[in-house]
Amino acid sequence: MTKITIAKGDGIGPEIMKATLDIMMAAGAQITLDEIEIGEKVYLAGNTSGISPEAWQTIRANKIFLKGPITTPQGGGYKSLNVTTRKSLGLYANVRPCRSLSPYIHTKHPDMDIVIIRENEEDLYAGIEHQQTDEVIQCLKLISRPGCEKIVRYAFEYAKQYGRKKVSCFTKDNIMKQTDGLFHQVFNEIAAEYPNIENDHWIIDIGAARMADTPEIFDVIVMPNLYGDILSDVAAQITGSVGLGGSANIGEECAMFEAIHGSAPQISGQHIANPSGLLHGAIMMLNHIGQNEVAEKIQNAWLKTIEDGIHTFDIYKEGTSTRQVNTEEFTLAVIENLGQKPSKLHPVTFDHHAVLNLPKYQRKAPQDKQLAGVDIFVQWNGSDPNELATLIKKIEKPELKLSMITNRGILVYPDGFKETFCTDHWRCRFKPQDGNTIHKNDIVHLLSRAVEENIDSIKTENLYTFNGKAGYSLGQGQ
Ligand code: NAD
Repeated sequence: MTKITIAKGDGIGPEIMKATLDIMMAAGAQITLDEIEIGEKVYLAGNTSGISPEAWQTIRANKIFLKGPITTPQGGGYKSLNVTTRKSLGLYANVRPCRSLSPYIHTKHPDMDIVIIRENEEDLYAGIEHQQTDEVIQCLKLISRPGCEKIVRYAFEYAKQYGRKKVSCFTKDNIMKQTDGLFHQVFNEIAAEYPNIENDHWIIDIGAARMADTPEIFDVIVMPNLYGDILSDVAAQITGSVGLGGSANIGEECAMFEAIHGSAPQISGQHIANPSGLLHGAIMMLNHIGQNEVAEKIQNAWLKTIEDGIHTFDIYKEGTSTRQVNTEEFTLAVIENLGQKPSKLHPVTFDHHAVLNLPKYQRKAPQDKQLAGVDIFVQWNGSDPNELATLIKKIEKPELKLSMITNRGILVYPDGFKETFCTDHWRCRFKPQDGNTIHKNDIVHLLSRAVEENIDSIKTENLYTFNGKAGYSLGQGQ
């Protein structure tokens, strides 16, 4: 028996949770339930995170969490429970299978069967944003080696476990050579450990275009957070119905399973909601806790029900459907089909897979990190970069000399183009003159000279080399 935490959630949540639990129990799932309250009621009772400390304790003790959809109340101040849960529990992998069920669910892509594995904790979703000048706001994109290694390894292990043939990686490392470059590099390193699984890398723009046009060329796709967030919705939608999808959020210790869709308040209480999204989350949960036979039994019974044309209103279609049913009738139909397999759709086999337990991340030995210079960002309201350079040169010394100025990344000094549009946000790069070595104190002194000269420095970024390799980007055009 595995004890799991459940939260029915809001709107249609209680109806689809009951359906999901009824099917799991009828299929012989070896689980016991610990129920918590989260979502709208908790938010409106004054808890801005939508979850109480006691509920956290239950989730952390049981480690496995099946979550119904929740309504985030309108108005400011309420934090997204999903984002908080993923990050607080270290749920680094978001897994979304997207499979077509043609001809029973209409889609332009009848042969599509892909799994999107999205990094879930970092990237632009670190949520670190600052307004630095009148005109410019920054959002930090943080990509870490542990983050990349964990998600890429998860993708290959998932492929191995589920008999998938290929793992593709989408990044934009032609532009973001350091951050996306690291993701791509780690992908190459880890792919080499799995010679029996094909791998390829796509620049995200053409990869996304191909995924939307010819998804059948892909199998498992692994991506950083933002790209994965967007493309997993695209992938679910083009299977024909975003409403059927489930998703898993996996961490080293805990895991959370849910439907992709929300709480659908318009249809709540009418007993017509389709429970399939949450059921798919539950099937992933059963696989995760090693109850693969039960997961397989439910998935095949569900496929048979869909194939028999027994459909809830959202997927009912004259011609392909045979009977429009409500939530309870759909649930009963799936239960009646337990033990059977679809005859036209491909049945699934999850049997005898080992539980996907990845080792804990082991931190690497530190690299040889050397200070190589500094970028000082300044607000300056002029327009001629040469004029700014004259001002900035007043604070340089041999140990830190002005080597370039960029504006939104493009080189404007020396030898900039007068056509380049400049904002009030300038990056001034200082590097030691040949033969000089620098220390952190040199940066402090540089900054204090900037204060004396009334230069409005808004932030600094130290430049480092790691094992002799530059850990910073060049100016565009440099
Ligand atoms: P939604 O997914 O709830 O609904 C979108 C559309 O799909 C609606 O027409 C709805 O009736 C329909 N739909 C959704 N699930 C269905 C089902 N199981 N069966 C039949 N039809 C279904 O998205 P929304 O309307 O944008 O959001 C409603 C609320 O849900 C909001 O408060 C939002 O914040 C929340 N939400 C929660 C989650 C989550 O908890 N993971 C995810 C998305 C949205």
